[in-house]
Amino acid sequence: MKVILAEYSGFCFGVKKAIDTAFDEIRENKNHQKIYSLGPLIHNPQVVQELKQNGVEVIENLEEINEGNVIIRSHGVPERIYQVAEEANLKLTDSTCPFVRRIQKIVKEYYDKGYQIVIIGDPNHPEVIGINGWCNDEGIIIESEGDIEGLSSDTPTCVVVQTTMSIAVYEGYVEQIKSKIRDLEVFNTICNATRQRQDAARRLAEEVDAMLIVGGYHSSNTQKLVSICKEIKPEDTYHVETADELDLDQLSKYQTIGVTAGASTPHKIINEVAEKIKRI
Ligand code: SF4
Repeated sequence: MKVILAEYSGFCFGVKKAIDTAFDEIRENKNHQKIYSLGPLIHNPQVVQELKQNGVEVIENLEEINEGNVIIRSHGVPERIYQVAEEANLKLTDSTCPFVRRIQKIVKEYYDKGYQIVIIGDPNHPEVIGINGWCNDEGIIIESEGDIEGLSSDTPTCVVVQTTMSIAVYEGYVEQIKSKIRDLEVFNTICNATRQRQDAARRLAEEVDAMLIVGGYHSSNTQKLVSICKEIKPEDTYHVETADELDLDQLSKYQTIGVTAGASTPHKIINEVAEKIKRI
């Protein structure tokens, strides 16, 4: 079995920074302060479990605690969270990815100027919920073509996009928005790491017999890689979270398998998967 790893896969800059920061906080926690993450630090259950074993507890909102150090994950949070934390005297360790921070700043700036804010993305994803919290939760979230019909065409509009969105889908929506609204500021805020991983996955899927995507089932960017590979290999794309889930019998019919992984997948897990299928 020949196994080819995608040119770009696994931990991105923002996720690596968030994980490194969490382990730094654990190491430097001389006062034995409680450490929390607001939501799972990354969309990878194995890493979240490892952090838990080292004392990082996941909370869903700040009201659950009255002391401690709260890590904000790379997805970022709504603006009001900073105020709530200050009022509650909680320490915040901010690991918002700089690429997400940039979107939050754009949204705030244009909202303050009176623009209609449009966010292309998944309304239930924490990054999108966080971004919307920088324009008073008044952003219009575009998840499907039907959502574009509801946009006001008379209001100056600022468009941003979730960092992990598929480029092709984003471009399609922007074309439709352009045909409806004239006074438009469009910011392509899909991050480089996403673009590189999607392009590399597409190239590799063209080259191999089957594609294997490694990453959390709840990870948005992992799911995007799965759907890109499925466009090219509808019957021969597989998604696993860990090496234990591999169905070696099923994979044994292929000569060459391409492996890629979402931005929240540790290299250790990617290597375990690659090593296991190489042995077929
Ligand atoms: S995918 Fe991009 S925006 Fe998201 S954490 Fe990684 S580097 Fe930052």
